[in-house]
Amino acid sequence: MDSTTTRYGNRCVVCGKPSRVNVGSSAYCLDCYNRITDYLAEVETPTNDNYSILALDPEGHSVEFAVERFSLGTNAIWTAVEQVPDDDPRREWGYEGRSVSVGVNARLMSQEEALDALMVKVQRLVGHASMHGTRITFGEVWSTSARREGQVLYANETGVARVESDVNGRKSFVVDGQRFSPEQFADLVSCFEGFDLYWQVRDASDEPPEWL
Ligand SMILES: [Zn+2]
Repeated sequence: MDSTTTRYGNRCVVCGKPSRVNVGSSAYCLDCYNRITDYLAEVETPTNDNYSILALDPEGHSVEFAVERFSLGTNAIWTAVEQVPDDDPRREWGYEGRSVSVGVNARLMSQEEALDALMVKVQRLVGHASMHGTRITFGEVWSTSARREGQVLYANETGVARVESDVNGRKSFVVDGQRFSPEQFADLVSCFEGFDLYWQVRDASDEPPEWL
């Protein structure tokens, strides 16, 4: 085995932590990359990038999000990523967690303001359920609606679905953190058969719609 690769292959050239960003042939962790980018753009580096946000879901359970910042120089993207442990049983049926982000001009917005904006957005997303489930009673047969983990799932009247490829490159929709194939998504919304579905596409960093 090549010891150089082993030692430096996926490591930050500055501090040795696992790398996230490649610039040319050099790899950096997010902290070092941000610090260098901030320095070159002459913007202040936030004193602490390691934040987490707790939000309440519609049932009152708290959901943790880890916050990370990606510096683009004068601008930065702050992203909150839901923390789902590897042994979380929901992972078996496709729960991958949710994420939201805000785009921030570092010269116009302080880190506190950026975090506040992110927190509001996280709470709006987590506090809104895009679908609901009902336990399947033994012996019941359902011809429509998505089924998962002993539950039959229905889309709510308003919701958010992220269009995303799965690990195998197949197109899918992520709703409330759960992944659905196009077929399963059709099942999920089939409770509204005969109705019209309006849609509006938004970037994860755009302002959420009013109903969210
Ligand atoms: Zn580093």
